[in-house]
Amino acid sequence: MTDHTSQSHLVRTRFAPSPTGYLHLGGARTALYSWAYAKHFGAQGTFVLRIEDTDLERSTPEAVQAILDGMSWLGLAADEGPFYQMQHMPRYRAVIAQMLAAGTAYHCYSTAQEVEVMREAARARGAKPRYDGTWRPEAGKALPPIPVGVAPVVRFKNPIEGAVVWDDLVKGTISIANAELDDFIIARGLTAELAAQGETIGTPTYNFCVVVDDWDMRITHVIRGDDHVNNTPRQINVLRALGAALPQYGHLPMILGPDGEKLSKRHGAVSVMQYDALGYLPQAMLNYLARLGWSHGDTELLTMDELVGWFDGSNLSKSAAQWDPKKLNWVNAQYLKQAPMQQLLDWLKTHKNLADSPQLQAAIGLMRDRSETLVQLADAVAVFDACEPGADLVALHIAPNTAVLQAFQTALAALADWDKASIAGAVQSVLAARGIKMPQLAIPVRVAVFGSPQTPSVDAMLAVLGREASLARLARYVG
Ligand code: GLU
Repeated sequence: MTDHTSQSHLVRTRFAPSPTGYLHLGGARTALYSWAYAKHFGAQGTFVLRIEDTDLERSTPEAVQAILDGMSWLGLAADEGPFYQMQHMPRYRAVIAQMLAAGTAYHCYSTAQEVEVMREAARARGAKPRYDGTWRPEAGKALPPIPVGVAPVVRFKNPIEGAVVWDDLVKGTISIANAELDDFIIARGLTAELAAQGETIGTPTYNFCVVVDDWDMRITHVIRGDDHVNNTPRQINVLRALGAALPQYGHLPMILGPDGEKLSKRHGAVSVMQYDALGYLPQAMLNYLARLGWSHGDTELLTMDELVGWFDGSNLSKSAAQWDPKKLNWVNAQYLKQAPMQQLLDWLKTHKNLADSPQLQAAIGLMRDRSETLVQLADAVAVFDACEPGADLVALHIAPNTAVLQAFQTALAALADWDKASIAGAVQSVLAARGIKMPQLAIPVRVAVFGSPQTPSVDAMLAVLGREASLARLARYVG
């Protein structure tokens, strides 16, 4: 028996993705908010992960793995689960059997074609297309004779009167008249063959499985995208029919692309793991997603501990959020400056095959402040490996300055120690001897050694590159 004793001081949230694709940005934000809300309640909060894999045609094991990978990359660990709905099928069927016995659900023998005719007729009257209740049992109503050879669906007996009202954490009070709601199908697809064997319940439908799981898992707060807002009144009615405590609902507005359209592949990367490959840090993604539909004053940068402390269900935005790649880059740049060295090294090894070395670490130290992504950082540190200045840069900066480069090479070659201070001394001696300003030396040196007129200071760069490589690279242009 499932234990439905409710312990009202406990908060239980869930993230319930359908494994039909990767973990997308909207899903990641829903997961983050559900996680943060549970964590806000400390030991009293539980975050559940439930994989809604009942759509057998669209669910794949690869998508399950992609979701688990995305969650683990973001560090959103479930306290319970992952649970898989396909493993709960017997439970859903048992609840349907109870409802049939209790009269809160009924068998409907109208064929799909007949229901289509009913819907057409309603449309013709200018009414909402709907099932007309032919098989709905009512006191004193005689039902039609059960047709032979028709496999029935099971419908929920939705209340006719009144309205479903809930106080949405995000959207405020929402009220939907029961007259708007059909007796929706809670099990379908019973084959005539199975029916002939005495089976009376087909495959439980999506909206029904969600309800049973939210009930069985004692979910207290359902935080999800507002594409589900139409499901909520139906789900609430079923929960009521089951005598279940109702969770609180919060429906998050969707995420729009920079052009104001629904965020989609057209806008670039939409899978969370793509952002890993593009060089975004998970802590930057979390920070960015946290602010995408929720705020704490005008705080832009926050730790997950701060998010958890502040995330109490208030300050959720009612209006759609807009994906802003520039802001994401800014946030990522802030995290790149302070991320642990080991995290940067791990990424560079996995994605760019760069082996850890004192030189790589020193190069990261020089370049991390001027990179917005790890991909940019990888490109920036690559100049220490090899670099071939373009012919146009050579013509512009090196050809007219070979005498300066020659003098600098001579000064460098004479250094006893190869460190930043000694190299700075060599720079100063050449500037003084030739009566030139820093850029007149620094730019040709940068182009000659690193292929670009813009780098961090020449002394720091050459110190990291090392004596041998620095002199060898200069020797390409001077005698
Ligand atoms: N499985 C649904 C989805 O991925 C979410 C259901 C829910 O949160 O209630 O859209």
